[in-house]
Amino acid sequence: MRLDRRVLVFGGLAAMTLFPQFAAAQSNYPTRSIALMVPAAAGGPTDTVARLVAESMSRTLGQTVVVENAGGAGGTIGMARVAAAAPDGYTIAVWHIAHATAPSLYPALKYDVINDFDHLGRITDVPMALVSRTGVPAQNVSELLTWMRRENDKVTYGHAGVGSASFLCMLMLSKELDVQPRGVGYRGTGPAMNDLLGNQFDIMCDQTTNTTNQIKEGKIRGYAVTTKAKVSSLPDLPPLDSGPMKGFEVSAWHALWAPKGLPKDVTDKLVNALQVALKDPKVVERFASLGTEPVPAQLATPAALKEHLAAEVPRWGAVIKAAGAKGE
Ligand code: ASP
Repeated sequence: MRLDRRVLVFGGLAAMTLFPQFAAAQSNYPTRSIALMVPAAAGGPTDTVARLVAESMSRTLGQTVVVENAGGAGGTIGMARVAAAAPDGYTIAVWHIAHATAPSLYPALKYDVINDFDHLGRITDVPMALVSRTGVPAQNVSELLTWMRRENDKVTYGHAGVGSASFLCMLMLSKELDVQPRGVGYRGTGPAMNDLLGNQFDIMCDQTTNTTNQIKEGKIRGYAVTTKAKVSSLPDLPPLDSGPMKGFEVSAWHALWAPKGLPKDVTDKLVNALQVALKDPKVVERFASLGTEPVPAQLATPAALKEHLAAEVPRWGAVIKAAGAKGE
């Protein structure tokens, strides 16, 4: 009996030395809760996406995935923390398109958006909607654009920091219209939405995950969506592209990241839990009610995300440069 066990232990150690992948397969990760960084304020669209995915991933991984919000500086504060964390699978992040805009806007960025992260997979591409406080006189999108041209720098808009999706959308719109509305920055568009409801500024361009319910309840006015196709949860809103803004298109893609250097088995478990979440009927249903859907499984992979990010960094860099935008 004793001999058998010694043989087994010796055999196991020998296998781990000769085949490191065998050692990796033995890890019992995760043995404690996992911190999921959301580099934007609670209650906003990234937070909404992250919490839905976290709930499903917790069930698959058998440990709680706990969302931590750290908004500010267009998400770069939270992502800097993730880049500096131990690559052990206990710190991961859900962030979005702003990860691709950061290098063009923040010259003092302390991390490399591609090489300091493990890219786990894309989650969803969220359309955006152009909205206003109900007191703005424009009743439809063409009236809104006329009003923006006329009022120009008297118009105020909310955004989630330089480089955020809400910032980018308004940057593109302002450039097209040749106007200079004044931006009001927040740590995320969750708090920005509260202030829009409180008439603290005029307009915002933000994800349908943060605007759909308020538009439907008549608390804010919705004018148009930023995708080329209509959004099924907001059927009355035309795409900006179908009117005077031909070619206008922006959506906020979200993805899952970790600090660079995760052990292979940890990566595999996280990617599997992500893939399961994206097929989870609860996630699919809730996404649909908010105007979005999970990306197809082949995009929710490390290779597909890395390739996408590598293409998005120069793409947005050119838009930002053409618009003359500067970070902090
Ligand atoms: N929606 C924000 C943005 O404009 C971020 C957030 O609060 O989730 O990028």
